[in-house]
Order: sequence, then structure tokens, then C-alpha cells
Amino acid sequence: MATTKTNTAPIAPGACIGILGGGQLGRMTAIAAVEMGYRCLILEPQEGCPASHVADHIAGAYEDEAVLARFAEACDVVTLEFENVPVDALKFLEERVPVRPGSHALKIAQDRILEKQFLNDAGIGTAPWAEITDEQSLKDAIDRIGIPSVLKTARFGYDGKGQVMLKPGSDPSKAWEDLGRVRCILEGFVDFDCEVSVITARSANGTVKAFPVVMNEHRDHILYKTHAPADLPTSTAKAAEDIADKAIEALDLTGLLAVEMFACRDGSVLVNEVAPRPHNSGHWSIDACMTSQFQQLVRAVCGLPLGSTEILRPAEMTNLLGNEIDDWAAFLAEPNAQLHLYGKAEAKPGRKMGHVTRLK
Ligand code: AMP
Repeated sequence: MATTKTNTAPIAPGACIGILGGGQLGRMTAIAAVEMGYRCLILEPQEGCPASHVADHIAGAYEDEAVLARFAEACDVVTLEFENVPVDALKFLEERVPVRPGSHALKIAQDRILEKQFLNDAGIGTAPWAEITDEQSLKDAIDRIGIPSVLKTARFGYDGKGQVMLKPGSDPSKAWEDLGRVRCILEGFVDFDCEVSVITARSANGTVKAFPVVMNEHRDHILYKTHAPADLPTSTAKAAEDIADKAIEALDLTGLLAVEMFACRDGSVLVNEVAPRPHNSGHWSIDACMTSQFQQLVRAVCGLPLGSTEILRPAEMTNLLGNEIDDWAAFLAEPNAQLHLYGKAEAKPGRKMGHVTRLK
């Protein structure tokens, strides 16, 4: 019978950290963990994934219990780098090894309706929203929330996929049809001043610490640039950081929580979504912060003291999509730039291939 490796004491260097998912976030987590004296084992179906270049890798399915059992056996603690890992896989692992964050937080983050309900129950503001399950609920939601609004699939949306903006003249039924008539959420359109995010950490030892709030620019719904720190009034910045800390406590999450927010013109801050993992808007921290988000994740899941989140230099991070990485030599020639490439074989349009952080 499987035994649970419960461990409230810090997990010391030398231990093995399991990472579910082998993309760039897993790769950068593994690089940080290895620098801190840990070993990493990646579980990700795809052979040759970015994290497999820097850590041991099991190329198996998240649904395969034999694979999960072998993975759990080899790891002292398990974390994740993307939120679409099946919740049942986490539950299976939780019976065998500490999993941080656990299935409860993952379940909420995977579903925009559970997420919004959780945030509102915790006293955290969001856009007005309604659940769509049939034509009648769509009609009622439009009556209540109005247009402009945004219709999003409740699950499996990312980088603007699975969402349609409803403008005056739009046909809501057609928009829902285009999303496959799956369970959706209708959100009121937020006329925001800017988009900001806060990544906060909670260690297995219970301490919580947020990184400074940053400002994000998107292009075609994909993050284009992050400015660290965000140029916001002190009160707005504090409100954003407090929201992130409140959310991670309310989720009882061990690890990182990235909270994407809208800073509104009236000074209010509304949460758009949360992700229980490292986040693209935290990549600047590798080069411009006392502790990187990836080091902080390792500290958190191993129950170590959290590192300082002091900014060393203001910075701007730019994502390199598709063949933008062909300019790698030019980025390397910039004196204040640090180039990070993810080792992906094929530069498909829109694919995140790397990023460059420029110190100011
Ligand atoms: P999401 O997939 O929820 O992160 O949405 C992707 C992007 O769409 C966000 O970064 C915003 O730029 C925009 N967006 C999403 N929801 C809303 C909303 N309720 N109001 C205004 N803009 C939104």
C-alpha cells in the first residue's frame, strides 16, 4: 500500500522536486532548483520538452497511474508549472507525496466560474459575471450584465483563446455557438486604466510574501511586455499586493499564486484571473530582483524562508514570440539586456520562444 510522505520540516537541498509540466516555466523552475542544490524530475507527455534539457524527465501521461506512482516514488515534493494537469492526477499524487499547490487550489484555478465565486466569497472584487449553461441563462446574463461584455469558456482558455468580446450589434447566441456551446462565463467589460499583476508566495512554513506589482501590456491577447515595478499610485499598488496576499491565504495554497488584475480609472483594482504557478509576468525577477519567482517557488514548496522580493533595478521584460528569436545576436549585443531562450525546436507564430529583460 502507498504511504504518504508527510513532511512538515523543511525539505533540504539534495531532495528531488517533481514538476508537473515541462514547458519554459518548468525549465526555469528546474534551473533555479538545481542552483539551490535540489534535483528535479519532470513529468510531461512530450519528449524533448524545454524542461527535459535541464532535468530528468518522465515522458508519460498525467492520467497513467503507473507513471504517477513511479513519479511520486522518486520525488520528495511535487509542484506544477501549468494548471491544466488533471485534478485527479494531483489527488492520486497527494496520497503519496506532498503536492504544493494541491488539488483544491488547482480545481478552482481551472474553472473561471469556481475562480470568480471563490474570489467574491473571499471579499475580492471582480467584473460582474454570470454562468452560462443554456440559451436562457445567456439571455438573463446579457439582461443583467449588458454589452460590452466578454464571453469566455469556463475551462481551458488561455492567451485569449476561448473568449469572444460582445459589442453593440453582436449576436450573443452566435458567439456562444462559436465557443462550442460549452459552459461559459459572461463578464462585464472592464474599462481599465492598465493591466497589472502580483505574484505572491506562501511557504510551507506559513509565511507569505508578494513581489512588487508590475504592469503588463498585451498584444493579440498574449503578454508582450512587463514593466517592473508598475507606475501606480502607492495606494493602488498596495491594494493590488494586499489582494494577492488575501487570495493566497484564502486558497490555503503553498507555492506561488499569480494574480492578474485590472487597475481601474477610479483607483479600484479588480481581479481577472489567478494562476497557482510561476507566471510570465514574473520573468523579470530572474535578472532584476533579489529573489527570482522560480527560486521563491522552490523556497515555498520546500518550506524554506522566503527570499527578499526587493527590486534591484527597474526592468522591462519583452516576450520573444515565434521567429523574433532570430534576432538573438542583437539582444546579446545590448549592454543592459539579458536573453533567455527556452530551447523549443520549432518557432511557430505566436509561440513563446524566449524573453529578454532590459535593466533600466
Ligand atoms: P484572460 O484570458 O481572462 O486573461 O483574458 C485575456 C485578456 O483579455 C486580458 O488580459 C484583458 O486584456 C482582456 N479581458 C479579459 N476579460 C476582460 C474583461 N472582463 N474586461 C476587459 N478586458 C478583458
